[in-house]
Amino acid sequence: MNWFGRKKTMVLTLGLILGLVLAGCSTAPSSGEESVPGEAQEKTQEETQEEALKDMLDDVIGEVTVTEEGGIPCASVDVYAMTTAMQLKGYGERAKEAVQAAAEEILRLDRLLSVGKAESEIAVINRDGRGPVSADTLEMLREAVRVHERSGGALDISIYPMMDLWGFTSENYRVPSEEEIRETLALVDQTRLVIDESTDPATVTLGEGQGIDLGAVAKGFTSARVAQIFKDYGLTSGLIYLGGNVQCYGSKVSGADWRIGIQDPGNAAGIAGILEVSNMAVITSGAYERCFTDQETGKTYHHILDPSTGYPAETGLSSVTIVSSDGMLADTLSTACFVLGLDGSTDYWREYGDDFEMILLDEDGTIYLTEGLEKKFTTQDHKVKILYRK
Ligand code: ADP
Ligand code: MG
Repeated sequence: MNWFGRKKTMVLTLGLILGLVLAGCSTAPSSGEESVPGEAQEKTQEETQEEALKDMLDDVIGEVTVTEEGGIPCASVDVYAMTTAMQLKGYGERAKEAVQAAAEEILRLDRLLSVGKAESEIAVINRDGRGPVSADTLEMLREAVRVHERSGGALDISIYPMMDLWGFTSENYRVPSEEEIRETLALVDQTRLVIDESTDPATVTLGEGQGIDLGAVAKGFTSARVAQIFKDYGLTSGLIYLGGNVQCYGSKVSGADWRIGIQDPGNAAGIAGILEVSNMAVITSGAYERCFTDQETGKTYHHILDPSTGYPAETGLSSVTIVSSDGMLADTLSTACFVLGLDGSTDYWREYGDDFEMILLDEDGTIYLTEGLEKKFTTQDHKVKILYRK
């Protein structure tokens, strides 16, 4: 199936809704005596429209559609959350309820975690320097701590001020000066985070000037949660697309493995190969996903930053896909391994890789597969090398 096509359709649909809303706003007659036309008024209106736009894009659950496949109800829904176009598909007697519940849970998690939503737990911590965290956020923080330690700091959720400096949080992209990078880098150090689990709920305290961002962990946590909801509703199979991240629940209705296309970073329209798996999260971090090109130099900068330099990680890899039954682990590691590069990731996998496999693409198009995927991955036109345990 062509998810990229669907994504475009969804964005178009959202654009249409938005167009209608904005058109509605701008043509709405000013009502009441208090409305004074003028620049200030117009600005406010613009701001309101922008907020409406954000709300629309942040909290959209499409209509749940139900079909049948092999006599089993199949429900699917499009969701736009976490600045990502998502699609959920579930098979089973209670598929419709399950995908609806899962979509609502995604919006709840988005409200909990989004750095851009003023009242989210993360935004409150970033604003006040400390704050309470729910069990869900705590679980993600624990994972971030584990992977930070194991990766020698390649994953660092206190990267937020650096993301902000580069404009990745606001989409006002720019290349910071070396001095700015140096100053901001002093704030990036996850070990200064204090997570106090003796309070109920647990509390997190940041170092002076620090900020956190769970962008590297949240979508994997979310897809794992959706898979759990599918299980709770007794579904037999399902497919969870959160942008480039996929988690398959069970196998296909026919009993066959799902066939997941791994995007080719060198060719936006194509796939580098196909992975056949069941009940696995397949989560990719790529240099191509969120990036901007500096007009002066023509150089492109992407959104996965190396916490040791403050610059986008450049290790010769163009994408890292982690395959694991644990979605949160897969997401966290996809980011960490992207920063670690080929050798660092291979070392990490040899030491801690009991519960995950990797597909690494380098900038020359060579694909590195860990040995557990050798028979599950096929490619037509890429060179493949296998990474062995020893
Ligand atoms: P995506 O969210 O695009 O699928 P990732 O899972 O790799 O990609 O997460 C990238 C996000 O993680 C960034 O947008 C940013 O919020 C955050 N991030 C970037 N670099 C790091 C890093 N070194 N450690 C932790 N988080 C990071
Ligand atoms: Mg990730």
